[in-house]
Amino acid sequence: CGIIGILGSHEVSPQLVEALKRLEYRGYDSAGVATVDASGRLDRRRAVGKLVNLSDRLVHEPLTGHAGIGHTRWATHGAATEANAHPHRRGPVAIVHNGIIENFRELRDEIVALGLTPESDTDTETVALMTAWHMSQGRSPIEAARATLARLHGAFALAFLFEGEGDLMVAARKGSPLAVGHGKGEMFIGSDAVALAPFTDRITYLEDGDHAIITRSGAEIFNAAGQPANREIQHIDVGA
Ligand code: GLU
Repeated sequence: CGIIGILGSHEVSPQLVEALKRLEYRGYDSAGVATVDASGRLDRRRAVGKLVNLSDRLVHEPLTGHAGIGHTRWATHGAATEANAHPHRRGPVAIVHNGIIENFRELRDEIVALGLTPESDTDTETVALMTAWHMSQGRSPIEAARATLARLHGAFALAFLFEGEGDLMVAARKGSPLAVGHGKGEMFIGSDAVALAPFTDRITYLEDGDHAIITRSGAEIFNAAGQPANREIQHIDVGA
């Protein structure tokens, strides 16, 4: 129900949790974060219930890294369990998602036929599985994410994080809102400007069908036809 992503210059786990707190008003049943650490290792922590359960988990099992994504979930497909909580991960890719992948059953059948076994009951996990499969076929993280996005029907905001890629996030939106935040040598994504307010007031709203390739030097945005798109940077004052 809420998404945050940070390519930062500090430890991101506390920042991710702070931003998720600002998205609490939307309601949620579980939460999670994933980070890429200095050695490129991708890892995640998830917890059912209040954000304090996630932050307690992070005290006992810390996640380091300057790149990360976070999520508060409002379950639509699959019960509110830890296995169904985001980020969903398969191999080198972790995904957070708001909305509904309408054609996930068809995609899941294809994935199962390719020999991959889902570990959750969510529509979202199909996105991680399909992206991981494309990468296993030799596609780069960006190409794998694009190939997957091209297959998705429904309403979604999505963020992708990749093992070994501490300076890359892929973000996409169709139907659900998603904003890109511009910092100084840091970049952010979030469901809304409120979540990003502690970090930046310079915001680009993705338009429907857009996807963004984000590194610490900026965001390259592409429209639904895959062409580079110019989206303005707005100064948003929501009060940090
Ligand atoms: N459909 C996804 C799920 O049930 C995402 C729900 C959300 O927007 O939080 O896991």
